Amino acid sequence: MSKEVKPESVSLCPLGMTAAPEQELLCIFGTGDFGRSLGQRLLQTGYRVVYGSRRPHSCGPLPQGAQVMSHEAAAQSAGVIFLCVHRENYDFLETLVTQLKGKVLVDVSNNLKKNVYPEANAEYLQRLIPGAHVVKAFNTLSAWSLQNGPSDASRQVYLCGNSAEAKQQVVETATKLGFNVLDRGTLSAARELEDFPLQLFPEWRLPLRLAFGLTAFFFFYLLIRDVVYTYVEQDKDISFRIMVSLANKVFPIVSLIMLSLCYLPGVVAAFLQLYRGTKYKRFPDWLDRWMLCRKQLGLLALGFASLHVLYTLIIPIRYYVRFRIAESTISKIKENQTSVFDTTMAWRVDSYYAMGILGFGLYLLLGISSLPSVSNALSWREFSFIQSKLGYLTLFFCTFHTYLYGWDKFLRPSYYKWYTPPGYMLCLVVPSVVMALKLNYHNHRHRKNKTNRKRRYKDTAVTGITRAIALGNLTHCFGCH
Ligand code: NAP
Repeated sequence: MSKEVKPESVSLCPLGMTAAPEQELLCIFGTGDFGRSLGQRLLQTGYRVVYGSRRPHSCGPLPQGAQVMSHEAAAQSAGVIFLCVHRENYDFLETLVTQLKGKVLVDVSNNLKKNVYPEANAEYLQRLIPGAHVVKAFNTLSAWSLQNGPSDASRQVYLCGNSAEAKQQVVETATKLGFNVLDRGTLSAARELEDFPLQLFPEWRLPLRLAFGLTAFFFFYLLIRDVVYTYVEQDKDISFRIMVSLANKVFPIVSLIMLSLCYLPGVVAAFLQLYRGTKYKRFPDWLDRWMLCRKQLGLLALGFASLHVLYTLIIPIRYYVRFRIAESTISKIKENQTSVFDTTMAWRVDSYYAMGILGFGLYLLLGISSLPSVSNALSWREFSFIQSKLGYLTLFFCTFHTYLYGWDKFLRPSYYKWYTPPGYMLCLVVPSVVMALKLNYHNHRHRKNKTNRKRRYKDTAVTGITRAIALGNLTHCFGCH
């Protein structure tokens, strides 16, 4: 229940009970969702809160302990004002220019679409109230996450503003609320901060498109090679194999290609630096973008590999497989045939599975170490050891796993249906190229380092000789080297 304390001011509970004199008073304009959640968090953290509202007597339920007044009275009572009002309604602030002079005005607003207005909301606000110190902050949080406290992913508060002191006051408040604060500079960064909440997985877009494209391509490729080919050439309907057999071919193929695409840009970049002879030149934009989405590429590749594992695990319980095994056993019994144990085959199959298991184990390790909570606990050397060295080992295991799957089929013409290679042969191209390039790069660097060492050695020797001649002590110089 609200209780009036001034003609234009309403307290939601007796002032004396909550407001300790030493507690800082903060003002919030707007008693909507965001304003209420922010007020509740501030009160829980020990601040006193005063709301500025158009309707101080009839606004909805507010957090217990907060006061509510008219905008004018609220603005006068606090040094920091959180503006929890939509940009379209900022006009009312023009009547408060005097009261807001010298105050820190925190703009939390977002827009529903990008580029709706020619300038950022915070810049517009600063133009509207030139005497205030506008700070853009808290807009990347939701009212829900504010209410629940920063225990989940949204721990980060981004802010920007032209006044260092004003920003410092907001930083202190945000830190007390339990958020990590990242200063993005002056108010010119406001547009970027306002666009943050409107982003829809920007770094996932390219990897997702790639995953979708590869899946679609290999699905239709294998559909034609396996199902359509058998129907046309052998008059047999094996379309039921789409659900498991085909899927279990497409997923590992896409996974291996995507894993190798994580490592390809690194190798391309290394060769580019080698070619340019310097590492202090910018990479082309397409390479930059590719390198920036390697984590997402890797995580999607891990997802496809996990599906492959699950699909493989159900093979023994499939009706088709059980039927084929039973049929072959019965026909052998009927024809009184025996099978001879093939040791080579046993080695091949076991090695094939072992490579797959090891590859998947390392795949998981790569995925786990890319989680922020894990990678934050690793040193840069540890992280790059896992992502680079173990990453290449994963690529090697998975590629070898696929080569073992192919075994001698690469040389048998019967596997090239309608003159097309099987899908797993196609998918081996990229990882094989990546590993060959990586090896080549290592050899190149090794040779270059050796040449550099020799050159340095020569240079040192020549410098030594020159110095020695100058000093008239040639014998000493040769003795040194
Ligand atoms: P809301 O629930 O619609 O509340 C907006 C408040 O603004 C109203 O309760 C009202 O308070 C005040 N208001 C409305 N019309 C006004 C006018 N003509 N003049 C002056 N004041 C007016 O909106 P919200 O969700 O709290 O969002 C408030 C701001 O926070 C927006 O800029 C939004 O972009 C930003 N934000 C919201 C969220 C979120 O999760 N909701 C997240 C990030 C940022 P009184 O009736 O008390 O005057």
